[in-house]
This record gives sequence, C-alpha cells and structure tokens, in this order.
Amino acid sequence: MPEQDVIIVGAGFAGLTAASDLADAGVNVLLLEARDRVGGKVESEVLPDGTRIDTGGQFFCRDMPELMVLIKAHGKTPVMTYAEGETIFRPPVAPQKGYELWRQVDALRDRMIATKPDDPELAGLTVADWVARQDIPADVAKGFLRLVKGLWCRSPDEIAFTYLASNDRRITNTHSELEMFLGGTAHALAGELAAKLGDRLKLNTAVSRIEHSAGGVEIWSGAQRFSAGRLILALPPVAVRKLVFSPALPAPVDKALRAWAPGYAIKVQVSYAKPFWRDLGLNGTVMWQEPQGLYACDTSRGGYAGLVMFIGGPLALQWHGRPLEELHGFVRERLVDAFGEQGADMRDIHVRDWVDDPWSSGAYSDVIVDPEARDAEDVLNAGVPPIHFASSELASSYPGYIEGAIVAGRQAAARLLAAGARSDAQRTL
Ligand SMILES: Cc1cc2nc3c(=O)[nH]c(=O)nc-3n(C[C@H](O)[C@H](O)[C@H](O)COP(=O)(O)OP(=O)(O)OC[C@H]3O[C@@H](n4cnc5c(N)ncnc54)[C@H](O)[C@@H]3O)c2cc1C
Repeated sequence: MPEQDVIIVGAGFAGLTAASDLADAGVNVLLLEARDRVGGKVESEVLPDGTRIDTGGQFFCRDMPELMVLIKAHGKTPVMTYAEGETIFRPPVAPQKGYELWRQVDALRDRMIATKPDDPELAGLTVADWVARQDIPADVAKGFLRLVKGLWCRSPDEIAFTYLASNDRRITNTHSELEMFLGGTAHALAGELAAKLGDRLKLNTAVSRIEHSAGGVEIWSGAQRFSAGRLILALPPVAVRKLVFSPALPAPVDKALRAWAPGYAIKVQVSYAKPFWRDLGLNGTVMWQEPQGLYACDTSRGGYAGLVMFIGGPLALQWHGRPLEELHGFVRERLVDAFGEQGADMRDIHVRDWVDDPWSSGAYSDVIVDPEARDAEDVLNAGVPPIHFASSELASSYPGYIEGAIVAGRQAAARLLAAGARSDAQRTL
C-alpha cells in the first residue's frame, strides 16, 4: 500500500497550487522540493539597504485571473508599476516613432497568432524562418526578433515556429504583463502557500529516480524512498529529463521531453536614492532595439527607488560567467546612455544569473526547439498515468508566467481528482 495518495515533485507555483488544491480536497499529499526554499523561479533576496526584492518572477496584470484571486485571498495590495511619462528607446528614436514601431511589431505578433497550427507550409519552420518569409519592413522584423529574444529568451533561429504561435495564442492579456507587482514580493506569496501545507512539504529533497507501475510510484531522493498511488512532476520539462525512470518512459513521452531547451535570462536590480527619471518626465522604461534582449522598467515602491533590467536570450548567454564587475560596467554604461549621468548614480547593482540554474532551467520558461515536435505539449499533458506533468510551460493559459504555473498546477490536481485521487484518500482515512 503506497504511503501517500499523491506525491508532487517541485514546489514552484505549479507544485504548490497542485498540493494545496489536492490537500483542500482531502487528498493525502506530499510535496518534495530539491532546494531549501519554495517558489522555484519565484525567489527573493535582501539588498544591502534591507529591501527584499523578487529576483525571479515578479510582475502580473489584472488579466491573470488565478493570480489575482490568490493575491486577494492573501490580503495583498499590488503596487502599480509607474507608467507616467515617456519610454526611452535605444538607439534613440522619437517616442512617437518608437511606439509606432512597437505597434507594427504587435501586428506581426497578431499575424503569427492567426496562423493555422496544422498549416503544412509551417512544418519544420523556426521563428526566424517564418519572419524571413513575411513581407515587412526590416526594422519591424528586427523588432519582432528582439521581442522573441527578450520574452522567450532563446535565439529565434532555434525556437520552433508552431510552438511559439501556440504559446503566444495563450498569452491573452490586454494590459501590460508588467502592470503591477507585490511590494512584499511574489516570493512571500509562495511562502504563504507553503505554510498551509505544514509537514506535507519536504525541502532539501532532490528526487533523482522514479520507479513506476500501474499500481503506483516509488520515488528516490538519495537513500530516502517515498511511495504514492500517483505522481505529479511539477517541474520544467528540462528538469524532468534529468530524472531516471524505471522502466524508461515510453518513446513518445521521451521524445516530447527532448523537444524542449532552457531559455537564458539574467535579472538585474539597480537601486537609486530616488526615481530621478520621473522628474525628467520619463516612466523608467527603456526598450533596447540594440543590444537585443535588454529591457528596463521602474520597480520603485514606498521608500525604495530602482529599475529592474532584464537580459534575455543570446545576450544573457554572452554575459553568463563573465566577471561581475564587467557586467556592472555594461549595466552602468547602458543606463548612462539612456538616462544621462544620473544613470550612473547607483546605490547598488544586484545580479541574479538564471542561466544554468540547476533546478529551474535558465529563464522564464523552457521553449520547444524541435520544429517537428508539434504534439509535445499534448503528449506531456496526457501524462503516463500514474505519472502526470505540470509546469507553467504546459498551461492552457499564460504559459511561462506565474499565472500559467498556477493554472497548470490546478489542472493537474483536477485531473487527479477526476481520476479518483480523492477516493484513494477516503479509503486510507
Ligand atoms: C528571472 C525571471 C523573471 C521572471 N519574471 C516573471 C514575471 O515578472 N512574471 C511572471 O508571471 N513570470 C515571470 N517569470 C516566470 C515564472 O516565474 C515561471 O514561469 C513560474 O514561476 C514557473 O513555475 P513552475 O512551478 O512551473 O516551475 P518552477 O518555478 O521552475 O518550479 C519547479 C520546482 O521544482 C524544483 N525541482 C527541480 N528539480 C527537482 C528535483 N529533481 N527534485 C525536487 N525538486 C525539484 C525546483 O527547485 C523548483 O522549485 C520569471 C522567471 C524568471 C526566472
């Protein structure tokens, strides 16, 4: 008889949500997490001035229903990201011209979303291949490729086109995805979800081996063994691939897992004495067309003033592993170029390099790089009962976001409840 009804591996938002939903339904669950903290790609650190900042997932908007409900249920009041004033474009263009370019880039994004997933003309294409076939001005093509590098954090000549179109179809916000954030950090919200689980959560428990049969699973973390009737792997696909399965997963599932690759991202928090850009009529947002994959916006709140800078895609890979002082110099140079000398007047630069992260992959989400793997997400969503997969990547809405992780965790829990996990629990009570 298995010890647990359901074991969930991975205490990011997907795993925390699945565990919490199942526990609420009376199911006997155990959540195993490799790190000494919960949150996965949502984590926080404390700056020298005592301010706690999100060093991973942070922003959201009113169009993300699950997260908005959770935030409200936990009594949190979001901070609106400062949006008064002009955005800076680099290399410099007049704001109106910059906004017009981004309108055209958005229109190209709509054209991508409107493609038919089973169109034979799209078979085998990468994103770069598809862009090259569009009759569009060169600066719009470049702007679109820059957007892909910044958001999906991998080179467009590697990302499968039908994957990106399908992924973007599920990102339906009409308000900016950076509309708001939590002053007390998104990571604290993960901590509150975990607190509810009590001793049903085990930290510092890296799972390495899974033995499975129709009757259940045996899970190994070093010499520790756990057993359950069902398993949810709430891990990014690249992290699932590191596990040993006995027997090996069926070939189509193994192929579906191999279709993914990690993105690359570095998140930089730059602190100032005050948000000086506001006095200059600027909102703090900087959109770089060059170098590609760089973006900044205002994260000031209460008594704290600062800008967050995202370095994504090949640019992050280029900076990964280089000496920190050199990266600081690059950040300072870019901000002086954007804001003038005041940009150099920093109190602190905090760098979190996610490239090569051992547990959560290297960016906001893993991406599909095998253009032939058109059913990879369907295969993983079907799972190999009693093994189920849940991570933000697989969500039916907002994949690659915190919202997506909650959706994926909720959907996995619902699937297990529908398959009888609750009756297992009642049997053991
Ligand atoms: C720098 C950065 C900025 C981001 N910014 C935003 C943002 O502003 N807004 C937004 O909505 N999203 C953002 N995201 C994306 C968002 O954070 C993620 O999409 C989401 O949190 C993923 O959740 P998850 O539960 O699917 O996976 P993860 O958070 O990756 O959780 C997986 C968990 O599994 C654990 N694990 C892995 N392997 C094992 C193992 N073998 N055994 C046990 N445990 C294991 C990991 O430690 C981790 O805790 C950002 C991500 C990053 C990295």
